[in-house]
Amino acid sequence: MALPVEEWRLCAARRWAALEPALRERLAAASLHDTLRLGCGLLRPEAEAAALRRLCRRARAGKEPAAARFYREEGNRLFGRRHYGPAVRLYSQAASHELPGSPEVSVCFANRSAALFHLGRFEVCLEDIARAESHGYPDRLLPKVLLRKAECLLCLGRLQDAADALSVVENKIAVDRIMTSPTHQTLLKKLSQLKIKIHEKESCPEPAREACGDIQKKSEIWEENDSVSGASSSLSLNFDTERGRHLVASQDILPGQSLLKEEAFVSVLCPGESLLLQDSSETAWDTRVTNADLYCHRCLRQLLASVPCCGCSYAKYCSQNCADMAWEQYHRTECSLGALLLTLGVFCHVALRTVLLAGFAEVSRLVEWSHHDDKDLHNPEARCKPPSEAPDTRAGTRGIPGCNDNGQYQSSYRAVFNLLPHAEKHSPEHKFLCMLSVVAICKELQEAGLEAAVLNRESSEKWSKPKTHEKTSGELSPELKIMAEAMLRHVLQLQCNAQAITVMQESGSGDGAVVNKKPVRLATAFFPVLSLLNHSCCPNISVSFSGTAATVRASQPIPSGQEIFHCYGKWQDAARHLERSIEIVEMHHGPSSVEMGHELFKLAQILFNGFAVSEALSTIERAEEILSVHFGPQSIQIQELQEMKTCLLALPRSILQRT
Ligand SMILES: [Zn+2]
Ligand SMILES: [Zn+2]
Repeated sequence: MALPVEEWRLCAARRWAALEPALRERLAAASLHDTLRLGCGLLRPEAEAAALRRLCRRARAGKEPAAARFYREEGNRLFGRRHYGPAVRLYSQAASHELPGSPEVSVCFANRSAALFHLGRFEVCLEDIARAESHGYPDRLLPKVLLRKAECLLCLGRLQDAADALSVVENKIAVDRIMTSPTHQTLLKKLSQLKIKIHEKESCPEPAREACGDIQKKSEIWEENDSVSGASSSLSLNFDTERGRHLVASQDILPGQSLLKEEAFVSVLCPGESLLLQDSSETAWDTRVTNADLYCHRCLRQLLASVPCCGCSYAKYCSQNCADMAWEQYHRTECSLGALLLTLGVFCHVALRTVLLAGFAEVSRLVEWSHHDDKDLHNPEARCKPPSEAPDTRAGTRGIPGCNDNGQYQSSYRAVFNLLPHAEKHSPEHKFLCMLSVVAICKELQEAGLEAAVLNRESSEKWSKPKTHEKTSGELSPELKIMAEAMLRHVLQLQCNAQAITVMQESGSGDGAVVNKKPVRLATAFFPVLSLLNHSCCPNISVSFSGTAATVRASQPIPSGQEIFHCYGKWQDAARHLERSIEIVEMHHGPSSVEMGHELFKLAQILFNGFAVSEALSTIERAEEILSVHFGPQSIQIQELQEMKTCLLALPRSILQRT
C-alpha cells in the first residue's frame, strides 16, 4: 500500500519503455529539478491521466447515499441481533456516506447512540444524541431519543440533568398529544420508570465516586538534549562522511531508559486493503472494517463513534476538534483527492501532506536553496558533508545538515527536507513512476481549483499574483512545480526514511471469544529525529508508539561512545517467520530440546526489541525453562533472558497495558 496500485505501476513502466532512449538517459541522470522539468509533460491527458482516472473509480472515497442506506440497514440487522459493537461500526459507515445536513445523517447518529447505550458507553452516547439533535433529527422521533438521554444521564449519576431531560420529554409529549400509538404507550411507561429511578437515587445517594484514572506518574530520569529536540541528554549528535549524521551514547545507558520522544512531523493512516479490492462493477458494499474505520484520520486514536468528514466518506475522526484541525491543516486540499491518493499509495499521500503542513513559503525556500546546493555538488550524497565554507563550526553541530543556525536539530520541515533522498539509488523507472504520480496529484490540484488553497497558507506578495496558468491545459504553474519537486523528493526519501507506526490489534470477533493480538501497521510517518538513527539488524533500541508520538528506549545496556541503532526491518515479519520455523524444530527435535531452546531465545530477542511485551514475556519464560535444564541457571543465555524480563517488567504501565 506504500506504492501505487499495480495497474498504475505497469502503466508508468510502459510509458517509460516507450520513451526515446536519449530522453530516458537524460531522465536517469537528471537532478530532481530537471526530472520534473523534463517529465512534467509526459503525463498525457488522453493516455496516462485517463487510465489513472479509471483506476480511481475503484477506490471509493466519496459520499454515496445508496451505500449509506445499505450500511444503515446492515447496522439495524446487527442491532436486532444484539451485536452492538459491529452495529456501531456500521452506523458510523452509514453516517460517513450521508450528505451533511440531511435528516438521514441524524438518524445514523440516533441509531448509533442506541447501540452505544447498550454497550454502556454513556458519555459517547450523549455526544451522539447531541449530534442527532443538531443535525435535525425528525421531531416525531425525538421523545425516544430524549428518554435515552435521560437514562444516560441517570447512569452517569447526573440526577439533576436527568430530571431536566425528563421534563423536556414530558412537555414534548403533552404538546404533541398523540397518545394512541403503542410506541407512545411504551414511552410513557419508560418515562414513569425513569422518574421512579431518579427519585430513588436522589433519596439514597451513592457514595461519591472515586476519582478514576489516578495514574501514578513514573518519575523517569529525563534531561533534554541541548542540540537535538526530543532527545535525551545522554546522546550526542555526530557526523562523519561514512555514517552521515548519527547519534552516539555520551554516557552509559541502562536498558529501558528513554532516549527519544518525538511527535511525527507528518503521518498518514494506512488504508485497509479492502478499500481498493473492489471492482467498480460490483454493487455490494463491503462491511469489512479497515484501519480507516478503526482509527482517527488525524491523531490515530482508536475510534468508537467517529465523526465523519463533511466532504468524503474516507476520513473519519475521533472528535469534531480533530476533524476541524485536519481540515484547517491539510484535509481541505486532500478531501476531494481521496480516490487518487488511495490509488497512488501512502508514500505519495505522505509527500503531499508534508508540503501542505510545511506551507508553500517554507517549501519554496528550501527547494530554491537545494538548487544552489545542486550547482555546487552534483552528487546529492555529498550534501551530507558539512558546508566547507564553515570549517570552524565543525566541532559543534552547526555545520550538520538539517540543523538550524543555532546548531539545533529539531523536528521541522527543514530537518525533513534534509533527509537523504538517495536519488541515485533508485532505479530510473522507479523515479519516473514517482515523478508521474506526483505530477498527477499536482495536475488534479490545479484542475480542481485547489491551487489557491495549497499556496495561500503562507503566501507572500511574491506569489499572490493572479494565476494565468489555470486555463492553459497540461502545464503546471511554476508554484505547483516547486511543490511537485518537493513532493518527489519526499516520496524518494520515504523509501529509506519512512517510519511505520504500529499497534497491537486484537484479531477475532471481540465478543468475549479468545482473541489474538498481532502488530498492525497503522500509519506511515516522518520522524526526522528518529531518522537520525542508522539501521542495524541488531538494534540496541526499540520504538513504541502512542497515537502519533514515538518513544525510543534502550533495549540493552549501551556503553558510552557506542552508536545508537534502530532496526527499520520488519520485526513482526521476522517474528512470524521464526514462529513457523519453531513449529518445525519442535516436530523434529521435541518440545524441550536444546534446539527448541535456542529458537525460543531468538524469538524472545525479536519480540523484546519490538516491545511486544506480553508475547516476549511468555516466550522468555518458555526459553528459560528449556535452557536452564540444558545449561544450568547461571548460563549467559539465562542471564540475558532474565535481564530482558526485568527490563520489560520495569516499563511504565502505559506500555504494558497497551501491548
Ligand atoms: Zn483524533
Ligand atoms: Zn474529506
